Amino acid sequence: MSEFNYSVDAEGVATIAWDVPGKSMNVMSVEGLKELEAHVDRALADDKVKGVILTSAKADFAAGMDLNVMSQDRDSVGENPAQAIFDWIMSNHHLMRKIERAGMDPKTLKGGKPIVTAMPGTALGIGLELPLATHRIFAADNPKAKIGLPEIMIGLFPGGGGTTRLAFKLGAMAAAPYLLEGKTLAPAKAKAAGLIDEVVPADELLTRAKEWVLNARDADLVKPWDAKGYKVPGGAPYHPSGFMTFVGASVMVHSKTWGVYPAAKALLSAVYEGLQVPFDTALRIEARYFTNLILNPSSQAMTRALFVNKEALEKGANRPAAPDQRVKKLGVLGAGMMGAGIAYVSANAGMEVVLIDASQEAAEKGKSYSEGILDKGIKRGKLTEATKAEVLGRILPTTDYGRLEGCDLVIEAVFEDPKVKAEVTARAEEVIPAEAIFATNTSTLPIGELAKASRRPEQFIGIHFFSPVDKMLLVEIIKGRETGDRAVAKALDYVRQIRKTPIVVNDARFFYANRCIIPYINEGMRLVKEGVAPALVDNAARLLGFPVGPLQLVDETSLDLGAKIARATKAAMGEAYPDDAVDEVVFWMVDQGRLGRKAKAGFFDYDEAGKRLGYWQGLAGKFPRAAEQPELSEVKHRLMMAQVLEAVRALETGVLTDIREGDVGAILGWGFAPWSGGPFSWLDMLGAARAVEICADLKARHGARFEAPQMLRDMAARGETFYTGTAAAA
Ligand code: NAD
Repeated sequence: MSEFNYSVDAEGVATIAWDVPGKSMNVMSVEGLKELEAHVDRALADDKVKGVILTSAKADFAAGMDLNVMSQDRDSVGENPAQAIFDWIMSNHHLMRKIERAGMDPKTLKGGKPIVTAMPGTALGIGLELPLATHRIFAADNPKAKIGLPEIMIGLFPGGGGTTRLAFKLGAMAAAPYLLEGKTLAPAKAKAAGLIDEVVPADELLTRAKEWVLNARDADLVKPWDAKGYKVPGGAPYHPSGFMTFVGASVMVHSKTWGVYPAAKALLSAVYEGLQVPFDTALRIEARYFTNLILNPSSQAMTRALFVNKEALEKGANRPAAPDQRVKKLGVLGAGMMGAGIAYVSANAGMEVVLIDASQEAAEKGKSYSEGILDKGIKRGKLTEATKAEVLGRILPTTDYGRLEGCDLVIEAVFEDPKVKAEVTARAEEVIPAEAIFATNTSTLPIGELAKASRRPEQFIGIHFFSPVDKMLLVEIIKGRETGDRAVAKALDYVRQIRKTPIVVNDARFFYANRCIIPYINEGMRLVKEGVAPALVDNAARLLGFPVGPLQLVDETSLDLGAKIARATKAAMGEAYPDDAVDEVVFWMVDQGRLGRKAKAGFFDYDEAGKRLGYWQGLAGKFPRAAEQPELSEVKHRLMMAQVLEAVRALETGVLTDIREGDVGAILGWGFAPWSGGPFSWLDMLGAARAVEICADLKARHGARFEAPQMLRDMAARGETFYTGTAAAA
């Protein structure tokens, strides 16, 4: 199947138009690269062709490489995967170099054919690496277009020559935001930054590109790095200013990644080494680091979780068959922190929202939350007053339940009290259409119990958001015992409308995410009770790749919330309650008024503005520092196993039904070490047998909570992994 269209016009300008069949956006495949090379060869060999325009027949240029290829099992590449991958990368470099040299004489650098890129819209990843090899890049003045190299965000780096080309073109310092942070820009800014050359009106894109092709001279085709005496902007690594760049960059990378993300380090090494050698050698170096990275299990797991599986879940991998359930009119009950956020994201996605609270004042306050976010967007130049008015115009703040008439979905976010929830459920159901779905945003109450207040429990479901709603990407959908398929489809279609990532889980205490976060926080507090230094606890978590340690996290979520959850859990579990040791810390902290950041006093001290100052020294008065501190690896194992074993138990007991949801949900829901690809991917890297061994050791010293679940022991016995064994998604 052809992925590019080739044509030559009367003036001898060939156009290679990228148009992958059946896709709204071009992505590069292995076959696509081969086909492109054949077209380039044909144009270079044809005497009638004076030059080439590489463009796209779609609204955008390209989204990048087909990552399904990149996340495939490395063993499938043959007996010597490193060699096979290296050879493949080098063949891509060869193609890009062929475009760059465009048939010119290697000595005189004369006689080449001009090849330009004309990009109508977004150009990401290889969709920019390829243009960087052409002689001039024209972009349509399309403010929605994103241009950049975001590979680093999913555990890779630009390995199609983009790393080397951008570093040679801009210098290491100027290229850093695009290579190391994956920053993308709209065309005008991309031009100012030196990523592209020209921004032109959309309807002039091809004519301007053609004009350039027909007027280009030999010198216009020579890349600076192929010209004699080229000096990289900002200086090569051994130049005094270049040296400073690399010292700073190494520190920055390490402080941001804590050494656990292989991509950033590999990228920096490729640039550092590459800038000291000729361009072609630099490409070989880039290829070596890229091969190494592709073979690193972390990059494979990150790509799989953060791209392939995340996208599959967003596209409805677990959606039951049901007609389109997109929401038109949404009712939100409770305009507090969560309700206000839910109203904002929904109105922003185009839904009519009726926002109800007990008083008109509270409802209005909930709506003003949207105003605040929209104002910030205007300040940053991201939206207009007109868009703000449109979004706000969709939110109706009221106390009148009658206004819920015609709502096809209602989400309640009132107080976490079953009685209040039952009352608002009944009041809403009196008004909403018989086919409407009712959802609760409860974080702790069983869906099956709350559904008892509903007249139609098959249309009752949990839609659990994370705070702050407008920032957090995950939504947990919870099926009660009686929840029907249409309710699940409705929840999934709604989550898709608001562009978040859903996971669908079964009803059980704390569902999935909170079920795993709580033991993580609790393990941190157990360590404190044993006299382990708080800095050791939080830093062990950071070294595992968690954005925040458990003590910092509990300060953010507040200790009184922890105490409330502990009391409710204890009441529900009775004798079986396992966390008395944790409660000793939590309740004592609450008694001291150390509720966390909101009280400007918790495990940390804070200044008036709420900035953390350092760990609170008073803690040691109650829980004295142990003379002997545990090994770092011991603290790491405890913090990690506390969460991953809970994830395995959730799978074993059928709360989770798909390991992809377990992995994606963990990263997006509570920041579970993204480099690992999630708890199941992490266990796969470690190996079930080794995990069982660590658990046996921890259990012997710290108790039954570290007992390896049967599922893990069976996997160890069979030598299975989650992603290749029986637990793997169909
Ligand atoms: P909140 O206290 O900020 O807001 C609750 C709102 O409900 C208040 O504005 C209150 O006036 C209103 N309300 C109470 N009774 C009402 C009634 N009878 N009719 C109409 N409105 C009424 O609480 P929140 O943090 O927004 O939490 C709301 C729900 O979301 C809870 O079930 C909570 O467990 C859940 N949740 C909270 C978080 C979080 O991080 N805060 C995260 C996920 C889920």
